Amino acid sequence: MNDRALISRGEARTAGVPRYFTGRSCKNGHVSERYVDKALCVECNNAASQRYRDAHPGIASANVRRWMDRHPAAAKVLYAVAGRRWRYGLTPERFAAMLDAQQHQCALCRTPFSPDFKNTRPHVDHCHSTNVIRGLLCHRCNAGIGHFRDDPELLVRAAAYLKEPRDE
Ligand SMILES: [Zn+2]
Ligand SMILES: [Zn+2]
Repeated sequence: MNDRALISRGEARTAGVPRYFTGRSCKNGHVSERYVDKALCVECNNAASQRYRDAHPGIASANVRRWMDRHPAAAKVLYAVAGRRWRYGLTPERFAAMLDAQQHQCALCRTPFSPDFKNTRPHVDHCHSTNVIRGLLCHRCNAGIGHFRDDPELLVRAAAYLKEPRDE
């Protein structure tokens, strides 16, 4: 590492190469190349990228990044809506597969999700005790089953209650 040819930041910039090397260590003790644009230590940068990937499983693979590039609206929802759920195993691939399987509609009321997810966007419905992802729901259905405490018995009783014959 130390016998690497020295090249200053200015020389590297003039030469049009992205990295330079001064032979001096960074604040974390790496005697490493640095990026010309922000003088960032390459090893520090790699370590930071690794920490980010560890904290965001699913983002790691190049496949996933390509998918997100091709589906910017869906990628945005993944970040905004899935958020923590990402950790429960909701990768972009799985999200896309669920969307396709549900024909881009709410799994309950069948309202179509809008293509850009602006008006009707999918909410990731998951079981709060097991973290198992159940499906993608529109906002109303997601909130609805939440108001019924995710309790199937209660929802059945609600349906029966609505159907009870009543005098006008
Ligand atoms: Zn460093
Ligand atoms: Zn719905």
